Order: sequence, then C-alpha cells, then structure tokens
Amino acid sequence: MSDSDSILSATNEGNVHRYITKPWNDRELKIIVKQAVHLFDEQQEKRDLHKKLEENNILLEQKLIECTYAGDQIKHMTYHDALTNLPNRATFKEILKVSHARSMRNPDYLFAILFLDIDHFKNINDSLGHVMGDQLLIEITQTLRGCIRANDTFARLGGDEFAILLDDIVNVKTVVPVVDRIFEKFQNPFYLDGREVYSSVSIGIAFRNSDYTQPDDMMRDADTAMNKAKSLGRARHVVFDVTMHQQVAKFLKLDTNLRRAIEREEFLLHYQPVVYASGEKLYGFEALVRWKHPDGGLVPPMDFIPVAEETGLILPIGQWVLYEAFRQMKSWHDQFPVYPPLKISVNISSKQFMQPDFIEQINDAILKTDIEPSSICLEITESVIMEHPEESAIKMMQLRDLHIQLYIDDFGTGYSSLSYLGKFPSDALKIDRSFVNNMMNDKTNLEIVRSIRNLASNLEMSVIAEGVETQAQFLEIKKLGCEYMQGYLFSKPLDAEEAGSFIKSRLVGHESACK
Ligand code: C2E
Ligand code: CA
Ligand code: CA
Repeated sequence: MSDSDSILSATNEGNVHRYITKPWNDRELKIIVKQAVHLFDEQQEKRDLHKKLEENNILLEQKLIECTYAGDQIKHMTYHDALTNLPNRATFKEILKVSHARSMRNPDYLFAILFLDIDHFKNINDSLGHVMGDQLLIEITQTLRGCIRANDTFARLGGDEFAILLDDIVNVKTVVPVVDRIFEKFQNPFYLDGREVYSSVSIGIAFRNSDYTQPDDMMRDADTAMNKAKSLGRARHVVFDVTMHQQVAKFLKLDTNLRRAIEREEFLLHYQPVVYASGEKLYGFEALVRWKHPDGGLVPPMDFIPVAEETGLILPIGQWVLYEAFRQMKSWHDQFPVYPPLKISVNISSKQFMQPDFIEQINDAILKTDIEPSSICLEITESVIMEHPEESAIKMMQLRDLHIQLYIDDFGTGYSSLSYLGKFPSDALKIDRSFVNNMMNDKTNLEIVRSIRNLASNLEMSVIAEGVETQAQFLEIKKLGCEYMQGYLFSKPLDAEEAGSFIKSRLVGHESACK
C-alpha cells in the first residue's frame, strides 16, 4: 500500500463521510455510499441508546434517593415514637445499655433515670377524647424537653410514660433542679384547643450504682419508685432505695398468698354493732373482713385490703364479703324478726364500685340470699366518689332505686368538694374515728364533728360517729345530735356467733316484726 493509500484509509476509518481519490470507479463508489449509510444508521442507533441510558440513569438516581429516604423513615419509625417523635422504649434501652457499659468502665461516671408517668391521664382521654389526649402528650413532650440538657436522653416509653436519662451528672444533687423545673412547669395549665388543662406528673428516680449489673434493673427500680410516688398521692418524686425492693418482694408474696387464700376460702367476717345514739338500741352491724391465715392468726384488713385493691383481688374478695354478709344478716332476720329489721353495712372498695356490672353483682347477691334490700347499707369512701363524680352519682342513684342505703365512709379525711356532696344521693355520713378519738382534747376536732353534723342536717343526711371509745365521747356526740354510733364503748367487732349472742342480749326495746 502506497503512503497516500494508508493516509486515506486512516482518515476514512469510522467516518460516515469518506474520502475517495479521483478518478473513482462506480462500483467502489456504490460500496462506499452503502457503507456510509450503514455506518450512519449504526451511529444513530448508538445515540438513541445513549439517550435512553441517560434517561434511565436519572430515573435510577431518583429511585435511589427515594429508597434511601424510605429506609431512613423506616429506621426512624423503628427507633422513634410516632406521636411525639421522641426515641421509643427500645432506643432508650439501647442508650441506657451504652451508659451502663460506660459506667462499668469508669466508676466516676454517674447518671440517673427519671421515670415519669402523667397522673390521671386516663381521665383526660375519657373526658376530652383521644385527640385531646394526644395533643396533651405532645404539649407535655415540649415542656419536658425544655427542662433537660441537649445531651440527656428523653424518650416516650408508651402511653403516658416517659423516661429521661440524665447523663454524666456531677452528683445526686444534680437532679434536684431538673425535677424542680419539671414540677414548676406543671404548675401552669396546658392549652388544648384554647382550653386550659391542668396536669401533674409522678416521677421515680434511680441513680446508677455499682450494684447494678443489668441496665434493666435500673429501669425497674425507677419504675418502682414512680409507683411509690403514685401511691403517696401523685404529683411528686421518689428516689429509689433498697427498702423498696423489700416492699415489692413483700407485696408479691402477699399477692401470691392472697390468691391461695381466695382458693381455700380463708376469709371470714366480723360484725361490729352500730347503735342508735338515743338509748343505745341496736341498729345493725358493719361487716369487717378478716383473713384466717394458715399460720393461725387473724390478719386485719388493713394488712391485705390495700394490696388486694392494687392487684384487683379485691373483686373476688369483695364479692364474697357481699354474699356472706347478706347471707348472715338474712339468717339473723329469720332468727330475730325485729322491726325495723337490723341493717348490714358492707364496705365497698373503689375498684369494686367502679366495675361496670357492680349493680348487677349487688342484685345477684340479693337474689341468692333473699335479703330485704332496704336493710342493706353500702359504705363508700368520699375519695372514691370524688375521683369519679359523674359515674358515682349515676350508680348511687341506681342503688337508691333498689332501696339500698348509702353511707359516705371516713368522712372528713378525703377532699370532698362540698358543692358536689349535695349531688350524691347518700343517706349518711360516717365521721372518721380520728376526729371522734381526739375531740375531747382538741377543740378543732370537736368543731369538725359539729360542722359535719350541721352539713349532714342541711343535706338531709344522718350521721354515724365511728370509734366511740369513752363515755365522754358518747355524751358529747349525743349532744351534737348524731343519730348513730359505733365503737369499742359498745362493742368490738364480733365473730358471727358472738354477734348472734349480742343481738339476743339487745332485743329489749325492739318491736317484734311479727305482730
Ligand atoms: P372502716 O370502714 O373505717 O372500719 C372501721 C374500723 O374501725 C374497723 O377496723 C374497726 O374495727 C375499727 N374500730 C371500730 N370501732 C373502733 C374504736 O372504738 N376504736 C378503734 N381504735 N377502732 C375502732 P378494721 O376491722 O381493722 O377495718 C379497717 C378497715 O378495713 C375498714 O375501715 C375498712 O376500710 C377496711 N375494710 C374492712 N372490711 C372490709 C371489706 O370487707 N371490704 C373493704 N373494701 N374494706 C374493708
Ligand atoms: Ca366502713
Ligand atoms: Ca370508716
């Protein structure tokens, strides 16, 4: 190949427009034009492909961005609470693990867990609805966030429970201003849709110490302390200490034993006489439950009723008490048919009273025992009524319709709103024995008893004075015009047999029912 030929073929390589040397021959020209057309088609195809590729690349990039975002979202949802956007329980536990591990390496590193639970949050949900409830949780989240530092962890554990991990604190006193700030903030109302809502919070605190080998134990203790704060009256904080462990252990043991006691029917009732203030005639009895412990002793109600109330065991116990008290009184009615028939008072706990089918349970016990409903008195403490005023008023009305009497027990120890009191159809106020006990040596107590007496008169209710132990108290109460009395002066609570004898000895002065 000549030099000029090789230059030409190099120039033509890959080009659509080719150079040929003159003179060209037709056949060669034809071939070259054919090749040029083919090459042009090929290149056009490449350009199209390239364009398509570019477009696909852009789409792919967009998809990639979307996927990364969705991945982030899923990640965020796994670790955060949807409503408040705070870290959730799982995240809090992970962070706690890290802090715990750090504290194992460095004994000087101190941190604390604050376990927070909003008081009576259920009431907000019930009265204002879930939307408002959610709104309140969001508002509370913002408020609490303002009370802690940026390096602290603030999480929502679920429902109305929150937790704060106060990181790297100098000493235990460091939490004081934080807790103070939180309580101070809760002094102000939250605004929900223009409505003022007051709320409060109970806080349990646990500090890291070398005894904690598992981070979960620290959570558990902060939770225990929070429950203690609730039981002490809410809107307060409690720092965990080891005695609480013992209390929890005792509580759990009692719970187990009580469950067994229910199965083995280890309960019995004692009956304390209630007398008319005038003449000391027998009016009726208050049924008081006891637990006949397998060890032989009689356990007083105050040693197991509070636990039974907390665990819900009060429901089967309470049902048994109702049935047994009615059955016993019906039997005394048959044995001692006096007029008016003797009354039987039964204490009703908050959980029992708030059961949706409470009225049916009462009706059922009446039907089974065939007791005359008008000889039944139910004692409900004022705090129960005040905590659920609307529901209580409805239930009290229904009980009234059954001709059952209602007493407000331990009156004066709760926080009755006097304006409310008139709305509850109750028959009598039972003055708490603490006032009666101290009325002779403390003028204030005497005045309280007098005021309760006047209040009851204005509301057309009777008064039963509890815990009358001395003749002096008896005379004073009589002078104040209380209708009924109960106390060691007349009799201690008696077992069924002793109570039967007591009735027999007191029948004098009673009219016979079978005239
Ligand atoms: P409560 O309803 O205030 O019952 C009166 C308590 O005062 C009884 O104690 C009774 O023994 C005691 N008491 C009566 N007179 C005197 C007195 O003159 N001096 C003194 N110092 N005490 C007197 P008890 O039987 O230990 O019952 C304590 C509480 O346990 C009751 O207080 C009641 O709240 C609760 N309880 C008793 N039985 C039941 C029950 O069946 N169900 C429920 N839910 N609670 C019950
Ligand atoms: Ca009572
Ligand atoms: Ca009482």
